[in-house]
This record gives sequence, structure tokens and C-alpha cells, in this order.
Amino acid sequence: MTPAYTDSADLGHFIQGRRSAGSGTRRQTVWNPATGAAARQVLLASEADVHAAVAAAVAAQPAWADTPPIRRARVMNKFLELMNRHKDTLAAMITAEHGKVFTDAQGEVMRGIDIIEFACGIPQLLKGDHTDQVSTGIDNWTLRQPLGVVAGITPFNFPCMVPCWMFPVALACGNAFILKPSERDPSPGLFMAELLKEAGLPDGVFSVINGDKVAVDALLTHPHVKALSFVGSTPIAQYIYETGAHHGKRVQALGGAKNHMVVMPDANIEQAVDALIGAAYGSAGERCMAISVAVLVGEVADQIVPLLAERAKALKIRNGMELDAEMGPIVTKEARDRIEGYIGIGVEEGAKLVVDGRGHTVRGFEGGFFTGGTLFDHVQPAMRIYKEEIFGPVLACVRVPAFADALQLINEHEFGNGVALFTSDGGVAREFSRRVQVGMVGINVPIPVPMAWHGFGGWKKSLFGDMHAYGEEGVRFYTKQKSVMQRWPDSIGKGAEFVMPTAK
Ligand code: NAD
Repeated sequence: MTPAYTDSADLGHFIQGRRSAGSGTRRQTVWNPATGAAARQVLLASEADVHAAVAAAVAAQPAWADTPPIRRARVMNKFLELMNRHKDTLAAMITAEHGKVFTDAQGEVMRGIDIIEFACGIPQLLKGDHTDQVSTGIDNWTLRQPLGVVAGITPFNFPCMVPCWMFPVALACGNAFILKPSERDPSPGLFMAELLKEAGLPDGVFSVINGDKVAVDALLTHPHVKALSFVGSTPIAQYIYETGAHHGKRVQALGGAKNHMVVMPDANIEQAVDALIGAAYGSAGERCMAISVAVLVGEVADQIVPLLAERAKALKIRNGMELDAEMGPIVTKEARDRIEGYIGIGVEEGAKLVVDGRGHTVRGFEGGFFTGGTLFDHVQPAMRIYKEEIFGPVLACVRVPAFADALQLINEHEFGNGVALFTSDGGVAREFSRRVQVGMVGINVPIPVPMAWHGFGGWKKSLFGDMHAYGEEGVRFYTKQKSVMQRWPDSIGKGAEFVMPTAK
């Protein structure tokens, strides 16, 4: 069994190929959510620290961009090998700072590793288009070149996987990358920076800046940062998109979610219940693809709600390092209090509280930030617990008479990240996937997180920007297209041309 991660040393930044305490004087506690104890301190970067990381990146990026893609891919391959070797160490760090159960953290690391594997194919992905003889003696081709220095700002809920949605592709494309991880779980980002160095990445090409709004704003306004990838809550995503665009940057900003799962009367009930329990309560609901609304069509509600209630009450809620744990604690006390506050709001709004997770304690971990699984029935679309993202283990059941009502409900919601439909009717499934206004759709799949080569992104208030994360969209985001048209002296005609050239 992998030992728990207990290192208590302060966490600073990673600039110019080494750890740095930076010049900032502010710091913040990183908690162990299972015990409720302060585990270590993270140093919060000053503007000067961000400027130092950008300067190192600006100096290192041209040589990295000039390195042949196959040699950049070899560095990624070595990094892939190191990530595989240390995946359990990373998973233990995630459990220690985020709280999710160790097996789930292992899954997170593997989904990050998938993207590194994808990035190893960069020579093929960067291949351009070529047209021979667009006019007599003239060829035209397009190529994609890196942007320069790019940055990623990531949320607490996937401290390894979400950075991996960004930096392996950005680096493989020839950019320098600055990561600003969540201040709530900063250890995995620093650890991955050390593995990249060991893999042979030149100093300065990858930096980690730990910090808060001060660091983010310094990245948003720095003239040498050409693009920003953001994943986090919707209000901050919108702020990043608008401010980044104002400063002339390319921005992709992925925001919050309220993911629905529709259960049709012809669905396999046992599978639907398993799916809802895993997708609503896995990672304590702190996933942007978690299911937080069950849309129960017709008579299926009376069958499903009692089964969900039984399972929600029986969840094994433990310290995440215990191998039979199904759900761990919430990331911070404030987040736990916010979630439990929403449960109170749901009760005031008149929803039926079927299972109340508030006040849950775990023996031996009485100081931990635990809450139980909560289940509401008869939730109405006008209620705040339906409209707003709670980001915790709270499942809201909405009853609707027919498929068309389920579809309308989802399409009218302001978020559009993920959605699922459980049915045994292929025609309904096809209609649903074509008509639903959501970026990622699962048919009998509750959490349809696309694989590394397909790209991840929601619609509506779940994504600001034009391109999804990773996959070929990621390659396009981190590169700019150049078109070259060429002819040689022996094919150049005589005399100046004053008309728009056409094919001859
Ligand atoms: P958050 O928005 O609070 O923080 C995300 C990042 O932004 C962090 O690095 C944080 O330091 C920074 N930040 C926070 N406040 C800021 C401010 N005022 N100005 C500038 N930067 C700021 O999100 P979180 O609580 O860490 O993560 C949970 C949220 O992320 C949820 O809303 C969840 O749905 C969302 N999320 C979305 C996706 C997706 O793919 N759409 C994936 C994971 C998480």
C-alpha cells in the first residue's frame, strides 16, 4: 500500500528548473480534509514571481520551439514513463490535499497520463497541408507554429488531470508553459514539474506559480503571455475570458456545471441506480462532470427514488486512504459549510429531503470535513438547488411526465457541460444526442469524459471560448496557422502585376 503523503515543508514555486520561495510574503494553509488538520503552507506568488517565470519562459521558448517535434515527443515519452512510475505517489498527494479516495485519485492520474500519451504523437499532429502547383510554378502550404509563452490556471478538483489537459499538448507544440494550480492542492503541480525536468525538459520551459488572484491577474495582463487556458467556476471563467481577450490573448475558459441524467421508463433500473450513485457521490460530487440532477421520466421515479435512498445511506464514507472508501471528505471546511447551506436552502424551498447528509462524522476523523450523501426528491426548476452549482454530494431528483419535458428542461438550463441518458431505445437515444444543447453526451454512460484524442468542453455557461481542451482542438489552440506560398526565379514571369493574381 502506498504510504499517505505527509510532507509538511512549505510549498513555493518552480521557476527556471528549480524550486523557489519567490518574493511574496503571503501564505495560505493547505489542509488535510480527512483530519481537518493544517498539513503544510503554500506561498502565494507576488507579481514579481510571475514576471520571473515569464522571463525564464521567454528566454527558453525559442530553442524549445526549434527542437524537432520528434525530439520534443521523446521528452514527453520519458515524462510518460516517469508519470507511470510515480503514479501512486501522485495519487497519494491528491488524496491528502483534495480528499478524494485513493482509487479515484489513481483514476485521475491515469486520465492525465492518457493526454501525455496523446501528446507523444505530436509529429503526426503538427503535419501541415501542402498543395502542389496552386498556379504554374507556385506551391502553397500551411504549417502550425507555437504561440510562445502560454499559461494554465486550474481548479482544486483535479490537481493532476486538469493541468494534464493543458501542458503536455502545449509543450509538445513547442510552447513554454506556466501552470498556476489551485492553492488548495498545490503539491501535484510541483511534483510534475520535477518529473518534467528529469525527463529532459530544458529549464524555463515549464514553471509552476502557486498563488491566488494576484498571480492570475499578473498572467492575464502580461504582454508576453500569449494564451490562457482556464478551468474552474463560471464567474471566474467569464472574468478570465473577458480580461484575457481585452489584453489580446487567446483564451479558453471552462466553467461550472449542473449535469443531468435522464432515466427513461425503459432503462435498466439496476444499471441506472448504479450510475447515479457513482456519478453523484463519487469524489463527493466535486467533479465538473458529476451528475447533480436525476431527471426521472414517468413512472420510473417511484421505482428509483427508494433504491437511491437506500444506497445513499449506505455509502462508505471514510478517510480516502482506506481502500474500501467510496467517498472521502470535502476539500475544505468552507466548501463543506457551503454544501450543507444549500441543503438548508433546498428544505426551505420545499424540496423533499429524502436523505440528509448534514452533520456526518467519521469515527477517528471527527475533525475532518465530511458530509454525507444527500438526496432530494420533487425538486422544481425554479429552486436554487436546481439552478445553481452546489459542487458536493447532493443529488436532486426532478420528475417529468415525458421525454420531451426532460429535453426541454436540460436545454433551458444555463450550464451545458455533460449530460447522460439511460434508455434501451436507440431511436430516443439518437434523438437525444442530436437535440440536446450540451457539449458532452453519454448514452448509458453517466460520466462521458471524452478520451484524450477527442477533446473536452461544455456549451453555454460551461465554456467561454471557441476551442475545447486537449485532442486536436488542443493542438489548434496552442498553435497558430501560417500559410506559405512559394515560387522560384525560373517560374517568375516578367513585369509587375497590378491585378489580383489568379491561377495560371
Ligand atoms: P475556482 O473558480 O474557485 O478556482 C479556479 C482557479 O481560479 C484557481 O486556480 C484559483 O486560484 C483561481 N481563482 C479563484 N478566484 C479567482 C479570482 N477572483 N480571480 C482570479 N483567479 C481566481 O474553482 P475551484 O473551486 O477551484 O473548482 C471548482 C469549479 O471548477 C467548479 O465550478 C467546477 O464545475 C469547475 N470545473 C470545471 C471543469 C470543466 O471542465 N468545465 C472541470 C473541473 C472543474
